[in-house]
Amino acid sequence: MRSLAVLGATGSIGASTLDVVARHPARYRIGALAAHRNAAKLAELCAQFRPELAVIADPACAAELRARLHALGASCRVEAGPAALVEAATGAHCDTVVAAIVGAAGLPSVLAAAQAGKRLLLANKEAIVMAGALLKAALREGGGELLPLDSEHNAVFQCLPRERHSLAAAGVRRIVLTASGGPFRGRRRDELAAITPAQACAHPNWSMGRKISVDSATLVNKGLEVIEAHHLFDAAPDQIEVVVHPQSLIHSLVEYVDGSLLAQLGLPDMRTAIAYALAWPERIDAGVGALDLAGAARLDFEAPDLATFRGLALAYAALRAGGSAPIVLNAANEEAVAAFLDGRLGFLGISEVIERCLDGLPPQPVTDLTAVLDADLTARRQAVRIIGELSA
Ligand code: NAD
Ligand code: MG
Repeated sequence: MRSLAVLGATGSIGASTLDVVARHPARYRIGALAAHRNAAKLAELCAQFRPELAVIADPACAAELRARLHALGASCRVEAGPAALVEAATGAHCDTVVAAIVGAAGLPSVLAAAQAGKRLLLANKEAIVMAGALLKAALREGGGELLPLDSEHNAVFQCLPRERHSLAAAGVRRIVLTASGGPFRGRRRDELAAITPAQACAHPNWSMGRKISVDSATLVNKGLEVIEAHHLFDAAPDQIEVVVHPQSLIHSLVEYVDGSLLAQLGLPDMRTAIAYALAWPERIDAGVGALDLAGAARLDFEAPDLATFRGLALAYAALRAGGSAPIVLNAANEEAVAAFLDGRLGFLGISEVIERCLDGLPPQPVTDLTAVLDADLTARRQAVRIIGELSA
């Protein structure tokens, strides 16, 4: 039986994970649940899944969590604060960590889980974008394994041979990541200036948290995924292609030197990727229905519009620049998306903030977590300054 720590339990990936877990009580138990501030939801989940440990990252919400757990008759240990996330990811209560916190806040717990040799199910793409090399070193050191939850990378993982030393040795020519194109596919740049948060969060195919929904609308999400693919599969930037596929039924593809393209298809439901990673190398029911190909009828493809959706081009540039550039891209994006969701920045301002931060902060080498966090903080300060200028 596997014991899980679910970090980001109250979010979209957290909910999909717990849905799959609840279908297989003989295979999985919950050792720890962690969330940011939503004490009510976390308490309910604790009452249902009975973890040993509940972690609330915001200490101001700990008293409410304790009171709610007491009222529900759930008797788990409660810890609060960001450091407790690391405890949730490393303790003996789990052998598997579902990393589903959004943003840089998830990085320390992701690295700690890898160092502790846990099976790491990674949804928190910002962590690998910021510290891909450190994460891979931690995985080697800890002896654990990483299974991608991001649907594209999960699809690529499924299309690659199980044993491979390198992409070249496996005969892989390219990795092709599919992108839905988001809610504004086909629009021109001047049509995007007045986009509201509600419009940006209304994704045509996937139901997700607000930050990743905005990232999908700007295509920054696909840019983060290009960097994620580079680290996960040791692929050079030129080996990673993005193709827009509006139906979101092909989740990504691997092209081999003989001309074969292997694709993974399925309904756009994260439970497929989660179930695959939970049970790997076995397969279990995910609660996801069959894809009716005749009913779907069409699979369309087009090249991404890099001039309108600058975020994807900027991510390729940051990956090629190396060093701290991906950290700057991620930090600037997190600040810009938060400002956009708050009504303090326009939609087109997001890529402008990222571009100006990348231009203003030349890449520095990053060799340890302190350097990563320094670069993150510097970029956030710069981004906040630029957001202030743009909204003045
Ligand atoms: P969400 O906003 O629905 O949930 C985020 C979770 O993280 C919540 O449980 C929240 O409490 C927690 N959290 C936020 N800030 C925190 C902090 N400072 N400390 C501790 N916990 C914190 O987001 P989501 O859509 O579930 O996405 C989670 C991650 O998975 C993101 O990195 C996203 O890019 C990635 N992802 C999501 C999807 C999807 O379909 N939702 C698909 C692929 C990848
Ligand atoms: Mg994805």
